[in-house]
Amino acid sequence: MLKYQTVPVTPFAQNCSIVWCAETQDAAIIDPGGDLERLLAEVKRLQLNLKAIWLTHAHIDHAGGTAELAAKLDLPIIGPHPGDQFWIDGLPQQSAMFGFPPAGHFTPTRWLADGDTVQIGHSTLNVRHCPGHTPGHVVFHSPEAQRAFVGDVLFAGSIGRTDFPQGNHAQLISSIKERLWPMGDETVFIPGHGPESSFGEERRLNPYVKG
Ligand SMILES: [Zn+2]
Ligand SMILES: [Zn+2]
Repeated sequence: MLKYQTVPVTPFAQNCSIVWCAETQDAAIIDPGGDLERLLAEVKRLQLNLKAIWLTHAHIDHAGGTAELAAKLDLPIIGPHPGDQFWIDGLPQQSAMFGFPPAGHFTPTRWLADGDTVQIGHSTLNVRHCPGHTPGHVVFHSPEAQRAFVGDVLFAGSIGRTDFPQGNHAQLISSIKERLWPMGDETVFIPGHGPESSFGEERRLNPYVKG
């Protein structure tokens, strides 16, 4: 059984999610953008064994704490897709530009591709490549829990920005319709910012992707 707890981090209130297997208490942390002390206090409070870092994409508010956390606890870095290499290379400039603490450089232990799976304890999540916001953006889907961790692909009532280098609006819309909608209307998604919603709700009401 997959469980999760979302902790908003960084001045951008990015939804970092701690996900874990309820049987083993093994946990992964999705998008540790920063505020590591707060995240680690939460991991401790929940009595979890942190095993890995999973990244949806390499924007500073999602990946800024990765190098420090990985080094501190000797954790593997899983994801994103190699399309985000240039964003990883640019993390030092991203932190300077947005006034974040200096973000260290890192090399993912394992890059992800569409159709891959990631494992935590007895839970397996499917990886879908959803380019458009960034070229290497991935999402993590648990069919068992009917939850999807979608980063900045889709928000309640909105979609990710596509005005960054290599952003692509048409590609983002295709990613949402072809890779998120098939996960089912009842699936609840945890976006990178703001409240949770379901795919069915967005198909009905989100002006960018409805119908
Ligand atoms: Zn982003
Ligand atoms: Zn973001």
